Formats: sequence, structure tokens, C-alpha cells
Amino acid sequence: MRRPTCSVSPAGATDAKMASQIPAASAGLGTTDMARSVIFFSSILAITALLALLYAFSLSWLLLVVLSATTPLILYLLFHPRNQWLVANRSRVDDAGCVALTFDDGPDPVYTPKLLDLLGEKGVKATFFVVGQRADQYPEIVRRARAEGHLVGNHTWSHDNLFCFLMPRRLRAEIERGTESIRRSCGFRARLFRSPVGMRHPLLGPYLRDAGLEYISWTIRTLDTFTANPSVLARRILNKAVSGDIILLHDHLPGGADVMLEALPRVIDELRERGLEFVLAGPREDAGGTLEPAACEPAS
Ligand SMILES: [Zn+2]
Repeated sequence: MRRPTCSVSPAGATDAKMASQIPAASAGLGTTDMARSVIFFSSILAITALLALLYAFSLSWLLLVVLSATTPLILYLLFHPRNQWLVANRSRVDDAGCVALTFDDGPDPVYTPKLLDLLGEKGVKATFFVVGQRADQYPEIVRRARAEGHLVGNHTWSHDNLFCFLMPRRLRAEIERGTESIRRSCGFRARLFRSPVGMRHPLLGPYLRDAGLEYISWTIRTLDTFTANPSVLARRILNKAVSGDIILLHDHLPGGADVMLEALPRVIDELRERGLEFVLAGPREDAGGTLEPAACEPAS
């Protein structure tokens, strides 16, 4: 079977293409983004005022109608991984015949090194969305991932599960401190971002644009967080995966990532048998323009 050619090198054509899609840090807050944020906040305010008014006049049936009409819409805007309204995002890779493995929430002192060993044995490059606090705790693991050809992205500073309710100043700090932590770990300035649980925030679009970061979503939510059986996890991924998919997995979980590590070899082997190859979710060059920071070179 013909193996597709997928670019993962820093100087690849795909990288250049992706680089051109990344908003410039100097662009500042976009008018459209700001307008959308204002509309979102105003709508929430208007709905809240309306609900208070209806409650005051005991129009409970109308209150119920307004609530049931607006709640799903708000939940969709804040939680749907691929909705483009509050923040422009990419959930696929462009390369034909390729898929991207992404690992969130690490680095983990036990599971990330095991995962890196496995990826090394299989010759697979992946994208790690690291949590800043954890990267500060285990910088050598982030450095190793980068040195072995993987891509490191920003998964916020503290992985706050109430991300969509953060105040503007805290939101900006979560983004900036996450980027700084990666820079400290391996000298690389991240250009990709993913929020905790894929949550949106009305100001996330403009702030990411300001920080020169691109939001990367996913097409396959593997549910590895809840799955105890490696075969079930592998089958779930294999049943869905097609060319262009970005697959969401976790290398740090409260109960450990053994299930993911056990399922992954089968997933990699079977997807390769189908002719799919693995690529990074974005370009590997530094957002500041440096190609390969010296601090991230493998130790000789
Ligand atoms: Zn996460």
C-alpha cells in the first residue's frame, strides 16, 4: 500500500501554510472578535435582565420558555469543540492521508516518558498541549518531547475547570503564563493553544490573536478520561479515524494513563495499515521566528 508523504519537518511546506494561518501577534484585538464578545456579553446581560423581570411578574411559563431556548445556545457557544463563533479554531490537519495525535494535561513524570518511549519506538511524532504549572515542575520532560521532534502547545497555566468564567485579567494571565512556562522549559515559543476541556471564553479569540496563538480543536474525542478498557478505547478511535483527523488523548490523568498507553500501539499499527501517517498539529518552528532553539537540541 502506498504510504502518504506527510511533512513534519520545521521547514515543510505544510508548516509554511499553517504559519500563514496563524494570526500575527501585532495584529491586536480584531474588530470582529471584539464585536462578537460584546454581542455575547450583551446577550447574556439581556437574558438575565429579562429573566429577572419575568420572575418579578410571576410569568413562570415565559421564564421557562426563555431559559429552555437560550441555555442550549449558550452551552453550545461555550463548550462545542468546533464552533467558530467565539474563537476561530482548526480541528483538522490539511495533509491528505494523515492524522494528528494530541496529548493534553501533561507533562506527567510517570506516563509522559513512557509515552515518549512508545512514540519513539513507533517513529510517530505527536503534539503535546502542556499545562504551564506542570511544565514548570517537570521541564526536563517538555525538553525531551521537543528534542525528540514533537510539538509543544499551550494548555493554559493552571488548567482551571471554570475557564469560561475567568475574569479578563486572569484569562490573559493563563494564556501568557502558559506560553512563558514552555519558553522556560525548552526555549520554544508556543504558537498553538487549546483550552481546558475545549471550553470557550467570549474574550478568548481576541486574546489569542494578541498573543499570536492559534486555537487547535479536535475531531475525535476519545473519552480516554472515562475508559477503563484498552480494547474499547482502541476500537472507539479506529471506528472513527479518517484522513485529516486530530485525535484528543491525555498523558496525565488522575487515575493514570495506563489504558491509553496500552491502546495506543494497536491504534498506531492499524491506522498505518490503512495507509494513514502521523503528523504534528501545527508548525514546529518558534513563533518568534527561531527554527530550532539550542536549548532543545538532544543532548549528545
Ligand atoms: Zn486538559
